[in-house]
Amino acid sequence: MKKLSMCILALGLIFASSCENEENSTELQNLENQEEITATQRKCYSAEMLEKQLSENPEMAKKLVEIEEKSRNFSENDLKAPNGTIGIPVIVHVIYRTNRQNISNAQIQSQIDVLNKDFTATNSDVSQVPNEFAGRVANANFRFTLQQVTRKQSSRRSWGTRNRMKFASRGGVDAIDPSRNLNIWVCNIGGGILGYAQFPGGNPATDGVVVSPQYFGDRGFVSAPFDEGRTATHEVGHWLNLRHIWGDGNCSRDDFVSDTPVSSAPNYGCPRYPTVRCGSNDMTMNYMDYVDDRCMYMFSNGQKNRMRALFSSGGARESFL
Ligand SMILES: [Zn+2]
Repeated sequence: MKKLSMCILALGLIFASSCENEENSTELQNLENQEEITATQRKCYSAEMLEKQLSENPEMAKKLVEIEEKSRNFSENDLKAPNGTIGIPVIVHVIYRTNRQNISNAQIQSQIDVLNKDFTATNSDVSQVPNEFAGRVANANFRFTLQQVTRKQSSRRSWGTRNRMKFASRGGVDAIDPSRNLNIWVCNIGGGILGYAQFPGGNPATDGVVVSPQYFGDRGFVSAPFDEGRTATHEVGHWLNLRHIWGDGNCSRDDFVSDTPVSSAPNYGCPRYPTVRCGSNDMTMNYMDYVDDRCMYMFSNGQKNRMRALFSSGGARESFL
């Protein structure tokens, strides 16, 4: 009964897909001994991770309701950030088995540079946004600075999606002060999963983002078509409370952002404009869709407000200010 009511709550709040299934632990197990896979389609595990955490932790659902309320009532006046710029210190944990997985500092910095462009709408490809959506392009005004890089060699071929990489006791590396730093673990996830993030409101010990090394940054050991650093842009979007733009469900599922069109499924590759779903044109070029790196180049104003609401008084990421 308790599990059922949790599922109903989670359904109303979040997603349609998973309550009929127990966690597919076989699949997750199998992800933990895989060689690198070269992905041809974007695949992110953040939504599934949120469902899993909600099913394991009833308190988290309460927190999410509070965060949603804050997002709805947010106005820029609530922000204490000087100049409106919100600084995000970043710590990158590189966990590698092979030499090429031990990515260079230049590759790591290239990812920081991409984040700074994408989160201020200074990316050069933003000019490709079609007229219909041009007025909705947002400068989210976040500034990412690389604070520290940790490196650890491991014999593990892949790390799966059970947060093992986030604990020294399980062969990974512990998060460093996650209330003040965005922790990013760069390690081979397996299963063709490019990355995953923890949404705000979860366990601080696992807070942050995980990205496979070949999808991190835009130079060095990178793998097309995910070689422009947009996997981290997408995952940091989740870390800042953005949902997938199709709401992880059918036309009635929302991403809780009013200026992104309703959609019923992810888009892949590099879709032509217009792509029509649910009676409107999809914003396929949004970072929170599943398109290739070179085909995503905007956040919307609604997404910006949703991200920045976390930094208002009492917000889930206020401790960063
Ligand atoms: Zn995602």
